[in-house]
Amino acid sequence: MLFNKKPAFGGFFVFSKTSPWYNISMIFLPIFIFGLGLIIGSFLNVVILRLNTGWSIVSGRSKCDRCNKNLSWYELIPVFSFLGLRGKCKECKAPISFQNPVIELTTAIVFVVLYTKVFLSSGFGWFSLVSFLGSAILASLLIVILAYDFRHKIIPDKIVYPFIILALVSIFWKIIFITGFSFVPFLIAGPVFASPFFFIWLFSKGSAMGFGDVKLALGMGFVLGLSASLATFLLSFWIGAIAGLFLIALSRASLKTQVPFAPFMILAFFIVTTWGVTISSLFPIW
Ligand SMILES: [Zn+2]
Repeated sequence: MLFNKKPAFGGFFVFSKTSPWYNISMIFLPIFIFGLGLIIGSFLNVVILRLNTGWSIVSGRSKCDRCNKNLSWYELIPVFSFLGLRGKCKECKAPISFQNPVIELTTAIVFVVLYTKVFLSSGFGWFSLVSFLGSAILASLLIVILAYDFRHKIIPDKIVYPFIILALVSIFWKIIFITGFSFVPFLIAGPVFASPFFFIWLFSKGSAMGFGDVKLALGMGFVLGLSASLATFLLSFWIGAIAGLFLIALSRASLKTQVPFAPFMILAFFIVTTWGVTISSLFPIW
């Protein structure tokens, strides 16, 4: 997602098709990465549910929200438990949130996309490994922000600040390891991407856009660079407009309803980074 160019040294090695490592890298690793994504996604669900609730994120067993029954190991397997239990608590039949399997599957798919982008373009080696881990953490933070903003209409500082810092680190990482990497468009893209959101926040006195959206845009700009930021900016408003029209058509919203904006920005971010959407592809006339 973040590293389209090859590293300075062209990756450590790329397997020939006759090597047994080739099959492992092409077939088994993606399955492993998918499984890893399911497990991380299941952890992200815990973060989304427990963040700012006073509950510990790392300790305490998972429980049913309604009857407080501790969940046993076979009720904690990502996606499969949800399907096996048919979306209901075994004890009290309370419905289990659809958020769980959706977040797990989303994380797994995003991880496989990142794996494909990073390893298959830069070869296997520590450069790819660190790039993959960095991208996977950035993506995980975005997934938490998306779901949290959707539920609570607020972007938690505990997630967005690490995102901004890691985004800055990614610029230095690219300066060090990618030859000819021009970092200036990336450094200025943060403030440039954040400024329209800042002014919307300022002039609407926080009613049209929260300050969390400003912080999120700052971090995203650092990751995207100038042109991808502009594409993401436009696409997020398009997605927002389409979603708004849908909600109004379904009478779930009026023009005055506050709709969290971060989910649209994050969707646009994933679309732009996955398919390399550019401004000229958004406006084919250009
Ligand atoms: Zn229950």
